[in-house]
Amino acid sequence: MVAPSFFYLCPQTNVLMASHDDLLKNIISHSKEYGFIFPSSEIYDGLSATYDYGQYGKELKNNIEEYWWKAMVRVHDNIVGIDSAIFMHPTVWKASGHVDAFNDPLIDNKDSKKRYRADVLIEEHIEKIRAKINKEIEKAAKRFGDAFNLNQFLTTNPRVIEYNRQIEEIEHRMKTALETGDLQALKQLILDLEIVDPVSGTRNWTDVRQFNLMFATELGSVSGEASIIYLRPETAQGTYVNFLNVQRSGRMKIPFGICQIGKAFRNEIIARQFIFRMREFEQMEMQFFVRPGEEMEWYEYWKNNRMKWHRNLGMGDARYRFHNHIKLAHYANAACDIEFEFPMGFKELEGIHSRTDFDLKAHEQYSGRKQQYFDPELNQSYIPYVVETAIGLDRMFMSVLSASYKEEKLEDGSERTVLSIPPQLAPVKVAVLPLVKKDGMPEKALEIFHQLKLEVNSQYDDKDAIGRRYRRQDAIGTPYCITVDNETLENNTVTIRERDSMKQERLDIHNIIQVVKEKVDIIPLLKKLM
Ligand code: ATP
Repeated sequence: MVAPSFFYLCPQTNVLMASHDDLLKNIISHSKEYGFIFPSSEIYDGLSATYDYGQYGKELKNNIEEYWWKAMVRVHDNIVGIDSAIFMHPTVWKASGHVDAFNDPLIDNKDSKKRYRADVLIEEHIEKIRAKINKEIEKAAKRFGDAFNLNQFLTTNPRVIEYNRQIEEIEHRMKTALETGDLQALKQLILDLEIVDPVSGTRNWTDVRQFNLMFATELGSVSGEASIIYLRPETAQGTYVNFLNVQRSGRMKIPFGICQIGKAFRNEIIARQFIFRMREFEQMEMQFFVRPGEEMEWYEYWKNNRMKWHRNLGMGDARYRFHNHIKLAHYANAACDIEFEFPMGFKELEGIHSRTDFDLKAHEQYSGRKQQYFDPELNQSYIPYVVETAIGLDRMFMSVLSASYKEEKLEDGSERTVLSIPPQLAPVKVAVLPLVKKDGMPEKALEIFHQLKLEVNSQYDDKDAIGRRYRRQDAIGTPYCITVDNETLENNTVTIRERDSMKQERLDIHNIIQVVKEKVDIIPLLKKLM
């Protein structure tokens, strides 16, 4: 296993945790080496925060999409899926508030000419204080050994108490400045904390400015204001402007949902941590239209449903938690995140937002077209309220990799790297391997492979010793390996090896398809959501 290199105090739970600071680096290099994710335009030294999915990455992504899509449109009779265009009429983004308010506060260092997010600089400063607390804990844990009581230490150690007070004060000042849009106060906080640019080491900062995260481009050949068009920063607006199209053409009755999977673009000031924060990414969003006044009930429903969807995968319930938003977006009356424990700690994986009637109302106002639904049961028209679930496909991908990546020392002293991806999501479901490349074994194995390949994604491999072939399949997360050996030719049985336990069983050739399909089928997962 990857050795934990130090302990840290999880700020949200006050629990002492082992930090795997090398884990992210290992996942990134493994992803490249085994065809999951490549840096974009790598032969030109790459393009920051942009990645390409390789042959196994694409399969894993497809499987995550399928699990999400079916959990929405198959499990729920009242949810349908659409695919709206990335380009939309520019007024859409005026109505949604993105032109005026989809901003991050940025600050430049005059010496290094580097640009930073002001709130991130402050958060990183807070992290440094937290690191000091962790150092204190580490020292004390060593000193007191088994008698160490973490809670007592946190509430009585004067240095720790002072550090926590500082954190609280900084957070309060930052939150107030962000909420009131007081950019001067944000800069003052950076100056007061004596934050230096990590590159130049100086405090020669510009004023803080708002930076809009939308990418703008021009439509057609006419230049000028009128032809400016945006790459969508979320898929949701494509759903809102089609709300009545879908409702009428599908004769949908409220409550009902519309979901879609598609690309979104945000000009993030700092995009990093691998595929966690990119400038081009993919979202899986669902807008659920409900009667006004019933939104909180549905908000609770979707919170539970989405958490179940995640936990269903069996990657460890403790890796997920809810985080309620303290500062609500202008359109929301309730919002929370499902956070996942990534290698860099608990971070947002999915958002669940009660968006009121903000968006549809704004589109009614800006377009001059009614966005009302006639409710036959109430005999009245109204603009529905919306509960949204929004998950990043790439972040979901990263959560699967983070939970699955393991370096193991085996009983015989050898080592292996295995991706214990949930079988239903694994890119390759089964590998068919002749034990040796002679005695008719390859022919038999190929016969089995050709029968399997249309049923589930399969591979045939006859290069190198069998042990090395198992390792290769472990490294890409293949849950099952079928091996054709001498006995196969005698009695039509093969061995099936399970990836995580490495246990092997004998199986009649005629049962292979059924056994493998049962193990990798997503239907049992979907049934648990019904
Ligand atoms: P964050 O606070 O991390 O910037 P957000 O709250 O702005 O995210 P939403 O607008 O709610 O995110 O988008 C829904 C989901 O899309 C997020 O939960 C996340 O999984 C994903 N997402 C958002 N921004 C990015 C990005 N730059 N790269 C990858 N995924 C993203």
